[in-house]
Amino acid sequence: MTAPRLGIDLDKICHNARILVERLGKHGISVTGVTKATLGSAEIAVALLEAGVKRLGDSRIENIEAMRLAHVPASMTLIRSPMLSQAKRVVRHADVSCNTEIAVIQKLSFEAQKADRNHGVILMVELGDLREGIMPDDLMQTVRKTLSLPNIVFKGIGTNLACRSGVSPDGDNMAILSELADSIEATLGLTVEIVSGGNSANIEWALSGAKIGRINDLRLGEAILLGCETLHRQPIDGLHTDAITLCAEVIEAKSKPSKPSGRIAQNAFGEAPPVTDRGLVTQAILAVGQQDIDPSGLQAPIGIEVMGASSDHLILETDCFELSVGAEVVFQLNYSALVRAMTSPFVTKVMKSSSTDYYPR
Ligand SMILES: *Cc1c(COP(=O)(O)O)cnc(C)c1O
Repeated sequence: MTAPRLGIDLDKICHNARILVERLGKHGISVTGVTKATLGSAEIAVALLEAGVKRLGDSRIENIEAMRLAHVPASMTLIRSPMLSQAKRVVRHADVSCNTEIAVIQKLSFEAQKADRNHGVILMVELGDLREGIMPDDLMQTVRKTLSLPNIVFKGIGTNLACRSGVSPDGDNMAILSELADSIEATLGLTVEIVSGGNSANIEWALSGAKIGRINDLRLGEAILLGCETLHRQPIDGLHTDAITLCAEVIEAKSKPSKPSGRIAQNAFGEAPPVTDRGLVTQAILAVGQQDIDPSGLQAPIGIEVMGASSDHLILETDCFELSVGAEVVFQLNYSALVRAMTSPFVTKVMKSSSTDYYPR
């Protein structure tokens, strides 16, 4: 089979999503399945829907368009604030978008009127992580302005933590989001339908027995695809951590000195790697590189160590494996390695499932 390739087990992804949908459902929280790491894969999207996610979310309109083209039957939310320059496409292909700038919502309104459609808006609130979000004090006036715009439907509010600064979702910041929903309803006499509390980093909080308040949605990507929570990157009980694996092929296997010889300057990536002499080592080169994966995000089988990578070469050392030319090595991936592999045209994606239900027609 061709290499490098991602092996994508749709049954395991579906299982992971289903378990999270069930556990969170007991707390009144629905799941938006986040597909941004999958490059708009219709098969994965359908596996998530099969598992009971309520809607799909993606950060890129291109991915949403790909899923639409494949007739994935779901409500789709653009979870990154739309670019002004993409407003027309957003209105055409996404049902809802997450927003923080009134200028963008005005443009969405303009384009929605031209297209004779309605577009849903979730307003994102800044609660400490300092990525996207309206400052809480400015939220009410932004809701008011949003409500005044033709063909725009105010769907709710949300927040995103643990992405830029690692701020953990907790009782305090989640309570603020709940209070904001309550005060919008009390002040403006409307229903805030969606209160989206965050991403995979919120799972621990949501299942801890904490007061959930008004939070009724989480946007989950990594936890479903990789089976781990994202505050400490620990496996989630009952989930598969090997639903997606990377397989790459050995193109050179030799015994080599561990210490380079000659005068040392920068390597291909402008670094000067530290050097220790460990004598002769068994080194293997795999035909995959920085273009395709994040080498620091690969977990090799026991007995094999990832030493580094240049654009097209991944260097391994092993003390127990027979890694001859043509052999294949299978890795687990972290999110950053996964995203790069998914988006690399050099990495083949091989889907596996026990049923054909996942394949949209
Ligand atoms: C990426 C992203 C998510 C999903 O994050 P995971 O850690 O993959 O669960 C949710 N919301 C927003 C706004 C995002 O950008």
